[in-house]
Amino acid sequence: MQRTLIGELGNHIGETVSISGWVDVRRDQGKMVFFDFRDRSEIVQGVVLPASGAMEIAKEIRNEFVVRVEGTVNKRPEKNAQSNRQNGDIELEIKTIEILNPSDAMPFDISGDTSGIDESVRAEYRYLDLRSKRMQKNMRTRGEFIRRCREYLFTKDFIEIETPLLTESTPEGSRDFVVPSRLNPGKFYALPQSPQQYKQLLMIAGFEKYFQIARAIRDEDLRADRGFEHTQVDIEMSFVTMEDVMAAVEDMMTAVVEAMGYAIKQKPFPRISYKDAMEKYGNDKFDLRTPEEKEKGILAYAWVVNFPFFEKTDSGDWTFTHNPFSMPIPEHLDWLMKGERIGEILTTQYDLVCNGSESGGGSIRANKPEILEAVYRVMGFSKEELKERIGHMLKAFRYGAPPHGGIALGVERNIMNLTGETMLREVQAFPMTRGGQTAVMKAPKPLSQKQLNELHLSINADDVSEN
Ligand code: ASP
Repeated sequence: MQRTLIGELGNHIGETVSISGWVDVRRDQGKMVFFDFRDRSEIVQGVVLPASGAMEIAKEIRNEFVVRVEGTVNKRPEKNAQSNRQNGDIELEIKTIEILNPSDAMPFDISGDTSGIDESVRAEYRYLDLRSKRMQKNMRTRGEFIRRCREYLFTKDFIEIETPLLTESTPEGSRDFVVPSRLNPGKFYALPQSPQQYKQLLMIAGFEKYFQIARAIRDEDLRADRGFEHTQVDIEMSFVTMEDVMAAVEDMMTAVVEAMGYAIKQKPFPRISYKDAMEKYGNDKFDLRTPEEKEKGILAYAWVVNFPFFEKTDSGDWTFTHNPFSMPIPEHLDWLMKGERIGEILTTQYDLVCNGSESGGGSIRANKPEILEAVYRVMGFSKEELKERIGHMLKAFRYGAPPHGGIALGVERNIMNLTGETMLREVQAFPMTRGGQTAVMKAPKPLSQKQLNELHLSINADDVSEN
């Protein structure tokens, strides 16, 4: 018999059906055995009645066994119907049960919220953790958000293009993860902190409207809202101003989250300068919601603009605040070119904040070699260093680079806002632990001597810790 999804059972009352899935709960009442069965769509209660041929096998079955069940879909009598439960008005009268695969006892309870369970245990058994209702919901919310962003961008004539993972360092303000090159002894690739330079090169290549659901990999100190890896909805557009990019992103975010059933506090999104935000809220990732709006899960978006381009490092040198590839605001371009009033130069950066966190950020880019050169000069780069670091961009800009700009929206931050989660790892399928250990699998780990030799690497024994 063909499989029916549990979520479809309501359309098959009175019929005999076959379902497949997991045993969510088993309640043995002696004469009768009750089950809740679960598949990707829903949950349904099943009952093995006293005279049923399925009784013997029902006694063997435990939680999380994988089963195929045949039975009749019955409407529950009015008094037994549970309107607050999925499929609460029907029940499967079980005729046969086939065990497709048994299961060991769960290492922890997955029937409720697993956020309180020890992190390393959850990580080791992440595939079980992900079975829990909350994690299923988080991952499905994530999937829907990405799907809707993609669909929206396709309707607006964007093209999705992948950019390399093995690449050269792009400055995003973090450390790089590096990969040794077997073919080039002593040389290393960097994993991308973002596709920043490639997406700009794609504008020079004439694509005009690019997006990518891009992985960004940064060696950062791990925090609740930060991991080594995150995903961005990465966008770049040609022949645009700040207004154009902000309008496009605002329209996309509104369309996507409203289609997902969320309400937005204020449209159009309010705008505030960095200076005013700091004065008014004391930070640039403020939360505009009232306590009641927080309760209701309302999304309070706002744009922050007019950020300073540069800030001083601890050693007293200038560095960029957001993105070295940005263009200053037109009124301040002259200061940049002359290297004057550095601390006062404002950038075309725009950050999208939502519910107290940064949901995205981007800028209009410097598209002329002399402007990008001026940025790096401010940061103290010599002509040679400049050539070494961004020579390829300076060269590309000499071949008809259109005006362009873009943004990256952090997928995890957005899903945290949508789900109300406060930890990044609750919205990633296989996140790392705080100690940087991968879920389920055991990286990082040592390489064999053979691999080290192939990669032309030797390990400094003093640096190796016991674990
Ligand atoms: N590359 C920037 C980032 O990853 C985003 C952008 O400016 O488009 O934050």
